[in-house]
Amino acid sequence: MRLIFCQRIASLTLSGLALLATAGALRAAEIKDLRVWASPESTRVVLDLSDAVDYKLFPLSGPDRLVLDLQASSLASGFRQQDVAKGALRQVRTGKQGERDLRIVLDLNEAARPKSFLLPPAEGHGHRLVIDLPTAAASAPTVTRTVQQAVPAVDRDVIIAIDAGHGGEDPGAMGPGGSREKNITLAVARELARQINAERGFRAVLIRDGDYFIPLEQRYRRARDAQADLFVSIHADAFHRQTASGSSVYVLSTRGATNEASRWLAARENASDLVGGVKLDDKDDTLAAVLLDLAQSATMKASDDVANYVLSAMKRVGKTHKPDVERANFVVLRSPDVPSMLIETAFISNPGEERKLNDPAHRQRLAAAIVNGVKDYFNLQPPPGSWLASNARPRARQHIVSRGETLSHIASQHGISLSALRSANRLRGDVVKVGDRLQIPGA
Ligand SMILES: [Zn+2]
Repeated sequence: MRLIFCQRIASLTLSGLALLATAGALRAAEIKDLRVWASPESTRVVLDLSDAVDYKLFPLSGPDRLVLDLQASSLASGFRQQDVAKGALRQVRTGKQGERDLRIVLDLNEAARPKSFLLPPAEGHGHRLVIDLPTAAASAPTVTRTVQQAVPAVDRDVIIAIDAGHGGEDPGAMGPGGSREKNITLAVARELARQINAERGFRAVLIRDGDYFIPLEQRYRRARDAQADLFVSIHADAFHRQTASGSSVYVLSTRGATNEASRWLAARENASDLVGGVKLDDKDDTLAAVLLDLAQSATMKASDDVANYVLSAMKRVGKTHKPDVERANFVVLRSPDVPSMLIETAFISNPGEERKLNDPAHRQRLAAAIVNGVKDYFNLQPPPGSWLASNARPRARQHIVSRGETLSHIASQHGISLSALRSANRLRGDVVKVGDRLQIPGA
């Protein structure tokens, strides 16, 4: 797990967001507090805000510093910043930018490629803006290479863990024609595994391959043990209304992730392998929470991205129940470091869909759609050290907008200019919606 985590962080850092601005209506906030934590791998700066805010963050050199411009914002009267000189951070300066914006300058000890994001209120905290500064050693390509060399097979397969829902004494839902969900999910899972194994550079691991029950927490543990790059749980919904129909794709809700983080922190032994091998036992609670949060937010972002690709591929072959990826607190999705999604393939309670789920030809089409979505994602984001990373070319240069992404974020992710991205998609403004499919012009 150590290697996998390091690679994820490394690739995140390399695709780093030098510039980020949120689109949409103007949002303003008061800055109440500025907190800093430093770990060997990164320095985290957290601004406590009265509300979500529109901001721009960009690095400048000579001397190395980060400039944070917050639109129409101000410092709260009780604003305080203490002990900010930690890790990569030397000092913090604040001032006005133009008529109404607030500028915060983070003076650094060394150049850094920042990653930043807004967090909604949770667990006693309000709105927050988080800026992560990986230390130069942690983000240097040489470190990434060393990590890759340590992987026994350099051109390893991308591993997809497939979890057939229910099983054994837990039959799941039952269709009006008598089909049991546990049998349907196993049939879909096996077909999915067959198709994944037919793809070069991919390997499937079936979490359940027979009619027996596996406790929910063991399901994602098995995926972690298999060093899976993705966990896919297969289900077939039931609803009291027989007319309910269509597929759904779920990722873990923020509440689920937060609850899980506290549980993992309670069991430090488990948590230690989540943060790049840093032992958490001897860290204080705050630092441990910060390190775990870093791992978890990367995983949730990846889950969201891959789920959007899968949902979009499924829309091409059949009806989806809802237009967007949904969020729920499902136990099987709680892996803090393996991107995870749950697919409700169809409503087993709908007589027409029950018939389809029992049809091998339909299951083949369904599995093919899921495989296409998974391939779309991994072709664009191949895990370092994988065969895919050295061989695959995206089928098409496309990007599906996921939650929290902005146009400038997407442009920097693909190494193109904002204006190139705008003109390739004939966009006037900066507003994009979750699920929008953007053409990515050549770099
Ligand atoms: Zn189910």
